[in-house]
Order: sequence, then C-alpha cells, then structure tokens
Amino acid sequence: MFASVIIDQDTKALNKVFDYRVPDEMKIEKGFRVLVPFGSRTVQAFVVELKDFSSVDPSKIKSVIAPLDDYPIIKPEMLELMNFMCKKFHLRLTSVLKLFVPSEIREGKVSELFIKWAKLSENFSDEQTKRAKVQQKIAEALKKTEKIKLSDLKKEFGQSAVKAMIDKGSIIIERERQLRAPYSGQIDDKKIVLNDSQKRAIDAVAGQGVYLLHGVTGSGKTEVYMRLISKVLTEGKNAIMLVPEISLTPQVMSNFKARFGGSIALLHSSLSAGERFDEWRRLFSGEARVAVGARSAIFAPLERLGIIIIDEQHEQSYISESNPRYDTFDVAKFRAEFNGAPLVVGSATPSVDIYEQAKCGEVKLIEMPTRANGKELPKIQIIDMMNEIRMGNSGIFSTQLIADLANVVNEKKQAMIFINRRGFSSFMMCRECGYLAKCNDCDVNLVYHREDNRLKCHYCGKQYKALDRCPNCGSDKIKQGAVGTERIVTELQSIFKDVKILRMDNDTTSRKGGHEKILSEFRITKPAILVGTQMIAKGHDFEDVTLVGIIDADQSLYRGDYRSTERCFQLITQVSGRAGRSKFEGKVDLQTYSPRHYVYKFAANYDYKGFFKKEENLRKTAVFPPFSKIIRILFSHCDENVVRDELKLCYNKLLKVREKYFDQIIYMDAMKSPIKRIKNSYRYQVVIRMKLDGGDEIEEEIFKCTEGNLKSSVFFEVNPESMS
Ligand code: ADP
Ligand code: ZN
Ligand code: ZN
Repeated sequence: MFASVIIDQDTKALNKVFDYRVPDEMKIEKGFRVLVPFGSRTVQAFVVELKDFSSVDPSKIKSVIAPLDDYPIIKPEMLELMNFMCKKFHLRLTSVLKLFVPSEIREGKVSELFIKWAKLSENFSDEQTKRAKVQQKIAEALKKTEKIKLSDLKKEFGQSAVKAMIDKGSIIIERERQLRAPYSGQIDDKKIVLNDSQKRAIDAVAGQGVYLLHGVTGSGKTEVYMRLISKVLTEGKNAIMLVPEISLTPQVMSNFKARFGGSIALLHSSLSAGERFDEWRRLFSGEARVAVGARSAIFAPLERLGIIIIDEQHEQSYISESNPRYDTFDVAKFRAEFNGAPLVVGSATPSVDIYEQAKCGEVKLIEMPTRANGKELPKIQIIDMMNEIRMGNSGIFSTQLIADLANVVNEKKQAMIFINRRGFSSFMMCRECGYLAKCNDCDVNLVYHREDNRLKCHYCGKQYKALDRCPNCGSDKIKQGAVGTERIVTELQSIFKDVKILRMDNDTTSRKGGHEKILSEFRITKPAILVGTQMIAKGHDFEDVTLVGIIDADQSLYRGDYRSTERCFQLITQVSGRAGRSKFEGKVDLQTYSPRHYVYKFAANYDYKGFFKKEENLRKTAVFPPFSKIIRILFSHCDENVVRDELKLCYNKLLKVREKYFDQIIYMDAMKSPIKRIKNSYRYQVVIRMKLDGGDEIEEEIFKCTEGNLKSSVFFEVNPESMS
C-alpha cells in the first residue's frame, strides 16, 4: 500500500503530495500523522490518501517510518474540507493545514491528544513488586483509587519505577476514551418564555439548508440560537456558533457558559496558545460539544454537527484577509452540507449579497421584526451638519447633540458616542455643498492619498488631481474628514467638566483585560459618556444608555468601495441598537454632512427592505456584485522590478483570456495597489470585473494565468473586502 502525504511546511516547493510506501505490518489510516524521510531529514507529515498503486518509480520511493498516533488527527470530513478550500479559494494544501491542526501538534512537536491512565493489571500480585520499595508504593496508590494519570504517577514516583512496572505487565495503560458529555438541557438560567416570533423562528429551522434570520436589534436572536443548540445537543449532535470577536464580550461568554456549562468550548483571542490548544483538545475528544468563537472556530474538530450558526452575518471579520484567505460562510456551508445540518445566519442588517440569495429562494428567510421586550426601536434624528456650519457652528458637535447630552447628564443616565475610524484612507468633501468626488468610470467615491496628494479609484486605479476648490460650488472649504476619539473626549470634557468620560478604542484596549475594565467602569458610573470606535457598536447591553451619538456617519460612506453604503446602513443600525434596550426610551443623534443621501432616510426608519431595493437597483445598473464578480490578484515582493515583471507576465496571459471572454469581462487592468508598500514589500494588482454568466470556468482560467514559478507572493481574491 502507498500513502500520499503532505509535508508540514508552507512553502511553494512543497505544495504537492508525496508518495511513500506503507510497510505491510504498519497500521495507518487517512488523516494520520506520520514520520517520513525527506531528503536527509526525518519530518512530520499528514496522510491525505491511501492507495494500492503509485506512479512514483518503485526504486525511488521511500517508506513511512512510523505513525505518530493510533487515530487520525485530521478527520475524514476535514480532509474533504481541505480539498474543497484549496479549490474554492485557490489555496495550497500546506497553507490550509494550519487552520486544521493547532501549532502545538505541528512542526514536528509531538503532543498527546488523549490523557493516558495507569491501572493495576488484573493479574497483579504483591509478588511482582517484592524487594522494590517504590514499586510497592505505586501499587498501594493504585489500589486505593482505580486509576491515576500516567503523567502524575511518573511525576510522583519517577519514570524508571513506573516504566519497570509497565514493562513487566503490572501496570496497564489505557488511553482515555472520553464519553460524550451528557447534556441535561435544564441549565436554563433565566427561564425566558419565548415569544411568538422566536417560536416561529425555531420551528422554521427544519432540516438541511441555509436560513437567514433577519431580526431587528434586541429581537432576541441570541435566545433563538441557544434553544436551537440545546435541541441539537439533546439529539446527541454537536454545534458550532460563530460570533465576531468584538461581540465576544465577558457578558456574552458568561451567558453561554451559564447555559451550556462544561459542554462548551469558548475560542476567543485572549486565550493563550496553550489554553487554545486545551479547548481544541476538548472538542477533538468529544468532551466539549459546542464550539463558540470567532472565525476560526468554524474549524472546530467536532463530528456529527447538528447545526452551525453565524451571528452578525454581515460582519467583515468573517472573511480572512491574511493568508490563507477564505470566506467563513463557504466553509460553514460545506460543513453543514456534509453533516446534513442546517446553517443559520443571523443579522439585523444582512449583507445585500445574502438577502439577494434569500430573494431568489436559495436561502430561507426568517423574520423577527420587533424587539423582545416590546419596546420601540430608538428614534433616529438626522442632524444636518452643513446647516450647523451655516449657523456658525463649525465644531464637532451639533447643538442638538450637546443639548441631548446635557439631558442625559441631568437625568443621571448614560450616553455612547460613536466615531468610525476603520481603514487607512480618507476622503475629501466640500463642507459647503457636500460635494464628493467620484470616479468617472466606476461610480464609486475616490480615496484621498496623502503621500502623493492625489485622489484615486480603488477599482480601476484611475488617478485624479486633489482638489483645493469645490468643482460644484467653488468653495475652498473642501477638506479631509475624520477626527479621533481623543479629541472628542477632550472637547466633551471641556463642556461636561464633572462627568465621567471613558474612551474605548485600539489604544485603550491593547492590554489584556483593558476592554473589560472600561466596560465595567462604565457599567457602574452614572452619569457617564462612553466614546468609542467599532468596538462599542455591538454586543453590549447597558440598560441606562438612553442616547447614542454618531459623530461622522459619513466616514463609512466615503470609503472607495461599492459596499460603502451597505456598511453605513449596517453601522447606523448596529450602533443605534445600543440605545433604549430596557425600560428607558432611547434616542439616536446622527450627524452627517450629506443628510439627503438615501441611506440615512432608510436607516432612520429602520427600513431594511426599502434600502435593499434601492441598493439592489443601483448595483444592477452599475453591474457590481452580487450582479457581477470582482477578482483581485495581488502580487507582492521586496524587489519592485520582480513584482512589476511578474505582473506583466501574468497580465499578458490574462489579455488572451479577456479576448476569449470579451463579452463577459467588463473591465480588466493592472495597477499599483492603493497601498504601494507594506512591510517592505511592493504591491501591484490586477483587477477584473466580470459578468456572472461565465460561471466558474472563467475564474479558473484567470487563476491559471497566475500559476508558474513566480518569486512574488500572489493572492487571489473574489469580491475582496478591501482593494487597498
Ligand atoms: P439580538 O441578538 O436580536 O439583538 P438579544 O438576543 O440581545 O437580541 O436580546 C435582547 C434582549 O431581550 C436580551 O436582554 C434578552 O435577554 C431579552 N429577551 C430575549 N428573548 C426574550 C423573551 N422571549 N422575553 C423577554 N426578554 C427576552
Ligand atoms: Zn461645494
Ligand atoms: Zn474607477
């Protein structure tokens, strides 16, 4: 028999399977970890296939040295998923491997996945330990309790005595076979009585398929998820639930722990590598049966999945942007189908893409249109900042927001002030008339690049002169946007001198526990104002927050991205959802320089459907996804000449593809990336926009053009989240 293996090293040269002979007496299966000779070294490898014949020259083929475990580390489902991902996302087997196998058992490190127990053998007699004092003590200890962890035994009595007893058969070793963790289904801490729309939602999830749970903020989606998971557990199956990292707050985690107790494994970023591995091991052995975590939890080594849930479906963090690049949704869909389980994705603001799928019937739509506590959603007031300027107020805060904050302070309540600071780039806008520069060819906003003082289109690379006067009204009040959290805190503090003002952003939360500290301080302080970035937008349930101020809603609108409007709508809805969550009524002050943009009208009315319709129409007309596909191929290398030459080489091949599919390919060009250099690597890219009717065939041909022995590293992305 022969084994095809992948060598555990992520380099291009090793991106293929190598065949080895399996000695007759050796017992291995697919997914086993083995030792093999490689060149002059002995390395760890993973068996991906077993077969009767190999095309390798019999005189050259080497033999597997030994298996490292007696069970597969990569389970059959995961092997298939690896292959699926390589194909779907154009990845290498060696680079996806790290998603499936923790570093603790990669790179040649040998780590036990199961606990070994020592027991006295049935035919043990005191005769066997005569004249060996230590061995007698070991026997005594084992007689008292039925079994002792082998590692503990060695620690207490020393390696040699234990080994001697194993060798002569006095002690037998049992590998732990974890029993499936029992689940009583009774650990319902709060005893929430489900409302009708929750009941309907739970009943609607029946059988395999993708379900979109569209529920307003506070509609009680979390309770629906938990009940669905409970149901699956009582049926003896397992579950995965994904939430964005920033929603995995201590509050949320303790809710899950309270509900599922020891059945749960929480995979979050503040775990150390060792702790992470422990959780992985608990899932692998079947001790833990529910994996809750951010993106990478989708690779939880659970079998018999009964459901997969993705909360906050619209979140960008579900798309991995570093190597290996993948879309978590596609991975989840594969696993759900493999297990015959439902995939439930939930959001108050689903992506345009998934809602379109729901419209076509590919995804089943479930709606929860009201808040669980029966309260109205907070009223959103659109505040025209242009008007403020005309009235002589050119500061950060509108008169209305200051008045409302004063009210909050008087009533000893709480407020959240949100600013949007995602992305490196900035926009230029006329503060007089609201004019914003757009690309002539693409109908997306241009992005201002400080280093060369130019405006650029992130989709076609076209450059424009930066403006010092507004082409629309002639005003010179055309400037860059964006203020920081620090400045907001300073200015607020000068107005509200005695009020506690807290700040939450990347700077204040970088230390471990920083996050938690700020939140718990906010929780007990009244009145108080919390100023923050994206981090305060979701997952928080503060009863006394009655006001939310959004300083610069426009920021998200002006990113040079066809999804800008969608992002803006999502953000407003999420942030607004923080206000008025309990008995006190909430209000949202939304400041904008373009108050007449359609997104604000729909967002202020919580009219997702209206927004979707408008957006769908616009995208159809401009032929942007989901009605087309954008492919970006990013080349990077430390030598600029190398990238440029290799890009050219690839581009010449691509020209032939374009000729062949002239009707399908709308646009194709090569350019410097908007960020020219990252970590000393020069970056160039090809951007292609094409119609959908060509199927995956064109994508495959395009990808082929990037293959070959290139020095540059090449990233291939479909509908990338960022073009920078
Ligand atoms: P979502 O995730 O949809 O934004 P949550 O799951 O956070 O909403 O629920 C909002 C609040 O409503 C929570 O405090 C939750 O405990 C509460 N809640 C959920 N379901 C019910 C119910 N059936 N009756 C009363 N309160 C509920
Ligand atoms: Zn103007
Ligand atoms: Zn353009």
